[in-house]
Amino acid sequence: MDFEAYFRGELEAVRNEGRYRVFTEIERHRGRFPQATRYVGGETTDVTVWCSNDYLGMGQHPVVIDAMHRVLDECGAGAGGTRNISGTNHHHVLLERELADLHGKDAALLFTSGYVSNWAGLGTLCARIPGCVVFSDALNHASMIEGIRYSRAPYKIWSHNDVEDLDRKLGDFGPDVPKLVAFESVYSMDGDIAPIAEILDVCEKHGAMSYIDEVHAVGLYGPRGGGVAEREGLMDRITVIEGTLGKAFGVMGGYIAASADLVDFVRTFASGFIFSTALPPAVAAGACASIRHLKTSERERELQRDRVATVRRRLDGLGIPHLPNPSHIIPVMVGDAKKCKMISDWLMDNHGIYVQPINYPTVPRGTERLRITPSPVHTDGDIDRLIEALSDIWSQCELARGAIAA
Ligand code: PLP
Repeated sequence: MDFEAYFRGELEAVRNEGRYRVFTEIERHRGRFPQATRYVGGETTDVTVWCSNDYLGMGQHPVVIDAMHRVLDECGAGAGGTRNISGTNHHHVLLERELADLHGKDAALLFTSGYVSNWAGLGTLCARIPGCVVFSDALNHASMIEGIRYSRAPYKIWSHNDVEDLDRKLGDFGPDVPKLVAFESVYSMDGDIAPIAEILDVCEKHGAMSYIDEVHAVGLYGPRGGGVAEREGLMDRITVIEGTLGKAFGVMGGYIAASADLVDFVRTFASGFIFSTALPPAVAAGACASIRHLKTSERERELQRDRVATVRRRLDGLGIPHLPNPSHIIPVMVGDAKKCKMISDWLMDNHGIYVQPINYPTVPRGTERLRITPSPVHTDGDIDRLIEALSDIWSQCELARGAIAA
């Protein structure tokens, strides 16, 4: 086989569909986010980032940076091993305590990313509970799907956020069959929020474990940033809460929080936990500082809500279609991969506005979009420039205007 020709052919097909991924090379600067420097063709330009998951700007917050500097100087760069072989640093333990407290659980377990926490957490639970059947929401993230697949447990996919469908599917299995229901709170691409209380009612009716991914909610929702389940007073009814340290907390890493025995079980059996070097201590310390700060400070969340509402109102004023949802994610719908990329390039080249086009397989074909994530550090001036640029391109390309029905 001509391997190189095969690779080129596959890439060409993706290019022809207009969904070949071109990474935008930027340099973020401490204290200046969402402004960044873009590197292109040997030159640099200034850009405003509108598509970051550093939702609250915590990646540059002084409490986070100071904690990371201090622990980098105290402990050095890396953890020096897997958690079992010399890699458990005091700062990992402090962070796990902080996370358990955040979610009102006995214990928490750190992973190197949210992806790994889902893959290893779900993979281990579903594989090792004898006869376990998994019930997965149709729009679950790739990391959850991979974990479930890796476990080789039988699984059923229930219609997105459809509690009646979940109830029916759970009812197909007798009370003695161990069941696990996996879902998210805030869905990252549509920005909709799961009916968590109703899902838990159904889980409890059928004696199923519940596993929630709060990756796009931790830090952002609830009085202490514990997520949507905290806001709705539901954390104690959920078996496993999974989250990331890489989005609203501004650093990196992932975790699960649950009962002491469940966490000990995953710690003992999860290969993605056991056989991987622990996070650098400075990263753990930065995440810990971020979580502590957001447990008591409402300021970042309030400002973010204000920025999100302002962008939505301004888009509505111009009839630029965006999905109505109750979260901080604003999906501006384009519905065509090539157009979406073209608009994104035009915003960047003409206005220094960086919004990544979102294409298949991240979203279904025909629902391509610009995913805008306003943060507390976007100014009124940033919003004015974004709205004027969008209005301009919508007129130039004669794109459809009008509200999208809820
Ligand atoms: N879960 C969901 C719903 C996500 O959207 C993502 C990442 O975007 C992850 C998990 C993975 O988290 P991380 O980026 O920390 O690996």
